[in-house]
Amino acid sequence: MIYFDNAASTPVEPEVTQLVHDLMRDNYGNPSSLHEPGRRSRVVIEEARKTIAELLGVSSSEIVFTSGGTEANNHILWSCFLDLKIQHFITSPLEHPAVLNTLKNISNHFDIKISYVNINSQGHIDIEHLDHILKNSPLTLVSLMHANNEIGNLLPVNQVKKLCDNHKALFHSDTVQTIGKYQMDLHSLGFDFAVASAHKFHGPKGVGFSYINSDKELKSFITGGMQERDLRAGTENIYCIAGMALALEIAMKDIKENKKHISNLKSRLIEKITRELPEIEFYGDEKKEGLYSIINLKLPQTEHSEMLPIKLDIEGIAVSGGSACSSGSNKPSHVISSLDPEEIRPSLRVSFSKFNTTKEIDVFVETLKNIYL
Ligand code: PLP
Repeated sequence: MIYFDNAASTPVEPEVTQLVHDLMRDNYGNPSSLHEPGRRSRVVIEEARKTIAELLGVSSSEIVFTSGGTEANNHILWSCFLDLKIQHFITSPLEHPAVLNTLKNISNHFDIKISYVNINSQGHIDIEHLDHILKNSPLTLVSLMHANNEIGNLLPVNQVKKLCDNHKALFHSDTVQTIGKYQMDLHSLGFDFAVASAHKFHGPKGVGFSYINSDKELKSFITGGMQERDLRAGTENIYCIAGMALALEIAMKDIKENKKHISNLKSRLIEKITRELPEIEFYGDEKKEGLYSIINLKLPQTEHSEMLPIKLDIEGIAVSGGSACSSGSNKPSHVISSLDPEEIRPSLRVSFSKFNTTKEIDVFVETLKNIYL
């Protein structure tokens, strides 16, 4: 099996699997209990929090564990509305559904304003338009993802932060695709809120965290007990929290080598496709620096393209199709449809991890050639 769907989820690090297994066997105490087994579980959680906070240049008290990126985005957006009284949310049409649908849900129930910043046909946001919609807009939050999960474009964080500061707006970024892939200091980058999901960096599924700048007083979104300093009720998933911290530690330790290796895979694929399959183009901006682990192929409009993810699956290659091919209907993703409505073609997202090899790239291109040529 060639696994090229690492933006969807990644294989778990063997050391993480071992740690989760050992903790499940040995640490059964409830971390809120005051007895020794409970205290032992508490220590596991607090050590994981400290590890993550140090790796990302923030304080431990700014990290809140969640069930993943979706919950973290929901918590931040809802709480910004309910507790910080945000009235205007500025986002883009390219955001993950965890942001877009949450904002739609808030606006279905309450009177808030949502503005969508313009994007160009390559998926870059229009900074001047952002500046324009931020003008004369009190109580505003800008929510723009750090790297797009379908086309890999990177947000110009410094420029967005500057505009947010100029207009006194808050800044939330969905950093699910970049945490564990770059050396990031969340304080210096200037986010008020950021989020992570462990299964995107070789950790377990169903666990993640929010970064909430200590100046911002959010309240719990899930009500119940007082866990996570009253910011997220419910007994903590200590096993996956510890597994996530270890996965992030491993990712950050080898970050330079991983980045170099994965970037080479991406360049090799782009070069080979450009040379050997020129009818395939790219969505997003393959020439500008984007997230090094994602490339999105813009396929020719032929019968082969419609069925490509299924054909590749039969050949033992796992990728993500940009179109849902069910009951004969071919529905492009909201990201692809937002780029250039005149130019919508079937797409294929290919996303790498450190476990992929150059040989796999060559096999992938040969398989594509067998299908297309
Ligand atoms: N945000 C982005 C950019 C993502 O890519 C994903 C996962 O695909 C999520 C949020 C949701 O994260 P989770 O799977 O942890 O709910």
